[in-house]
Amino acid sequence: KPSLLWLRRDLRCHDLPPLIAAQEAGDEVLVCFVVDPRLEKSSGPRRLSFLFDSLRDLDDQLSGRLLVVRGRPDEEIPRLADAVDATSVHISGDFSPFGRRRDAAVAEALGDVPLEAVGSPYLVSPGRVTKPDGDPYKVFTPYFKQWREHGWRKPATSSVEPAGLMDPSDIKRSGRIKVPAAPVKSPLPAGERAARKRWQAFVDDDLAGYDSDRDRPDLDVTSRMSAYLKYGNIHPRTMAADLGRSKGAQAYLRELAFRDFYADVLYHWPDSAWRNWNRQFDDIALDTDKAAYARFEAWKEGRTGFPLVDAGMRQLAETGFMHNRVRMLTASFLVKDLHLPWWWGAQWFLDQLIDGDMASNQHGWQWAAGTGTDAAPYFRVFNPNTQADRFDPDGDYVRRWVPEYGSDDYPAPMVDHKAEREEALRRFRQI
Ligand code: FAD
Repeated sequence: KPSLLWLRRDLRCHDLPPLIAAQEAGDEVLVCFVVDPRLEKSSGPRRLSFLFDSLRDLDDQLSGRLLVVRGRPDEEIPRLADAVDATSVHISGDFSPFGRRRDAAVAEALGDVPLEAVGSPYLVSPGRVTKPDGDPYKVFTPYFKQWREHGWRKPATSSVEPAGLMDPSDIKRSGRIKVPAAPVKSPLPAGERAARKRWQAFVDDDLAGYDSDRDRPDLDVTSRMSAYLKYGNIHPRTMAADLGRSKGAQAYLRELAFRDFYADVLYHWPDSAWRNWNRQFDDIALDTDKAAYARFEAWKEGRTGFPLVDAGMRQLAETGFMHNRVRMLTASFLVKDLHLPWWWGAQWFLDQLIDGDMASNQHGWQWAAGTGTDAAPYFRVFNPNTQADRFDPDGDYVRRWVPEYGSDDYPAPMVDHKAEREEALRRFRQI
């Protein structure tokens, strides 16, 4: 009897623990992906393109042995399991609130056929690192210490080979569809082969200087691995195995730990996806009237009159990417200078980003808003001008994205930063 390997955020051939489990369980393995209309709706065109291109890359590597179907997984997976009389269905764990609900529904719909989860898209799966009393960590530094001690296994050396995989064209009424066309051209080449190439180039060229240069948007030397990690084109284990002991490598590992930390936080507090993690902030006064919407539009379009904020927002709108330092600044600006709800900004980021991810995005926003775990204290208000002096000292980043800066075409600052900072602190004192 065959087994079913259901891929989701692990679109690669190398180091795929659920594949090993599937191979042990069945004589043959059927590899499938379900295009879920609910995710198609919420994914933003760039992320969808990245996903579909990743699937094409995978199908190509598997010589056409990837079965793609469209529908609700709790209908499609049991239907496929039934069609091939599968022993079991194998997945790697998805710890997001949506993923957990979906997988529970699939497990139930499968009835007697077991849904076996192994591993996750993280170095250390959510829920694994806890305080000695079993409580989750709320502060990153002690989490990070425990996380290192917990450790992870080495990457598996095996990879998926087309031989031993079922040919989907042999299955009657499989529901097979072609991998959908990408709605827009993906700004970043997608898929496992592109991920490995990108990673190798980063290790060779920029890893050594990562600790000193990572905060400089003008230098553009960060790894750009976030979207590949999001779709599992590469596993962070594979990346961690290439990191040595250098300062750059250690700084990089810490960022991978941040990714795990936010996934852990979202796992323990699923409501924090759209609500203040720190509920005390539920009482803070926010602007949501018509004028607030107009300010929100100006922020989205990069017309605030603060050049580093505008450069970031335009980089996002044009490429689906924004440098981390500028994400922090643009988020702080929306919350502290414009007094808008952080979730408005978070939604816009999710619509635009290729790496848009519930855990890292929502908690990156809550960090900037001061409402999250281990967040920047609310009274720390980023100054858009000094941030520009420090992190874009020659103005190269601003010139790249806001070419009209310095001319009459560039708008005056839409707010007085000093006054809005005071206003933010006043609202904070009220609660
Ligand atoms: P590098 O500097 O090369 O970092 C390596 C990897 O470490 C990244 O690919 C990422 O997986 C991880 N990482 C780095 N910084 C962080 C961080 N602060 N939090 C979590 N993981 C991190 N990251 C996302 O992947 N998706 C998002 O939707 C997202 N939204 C964000 C929203 C805000 C408001 C903020 C402040 C940060 C957000 N981040 C998000 C984190 C970070 O900005 C990006 O991961 C990073 O900019 C991606 O570029 P890179 O791969 O070149 O990063």
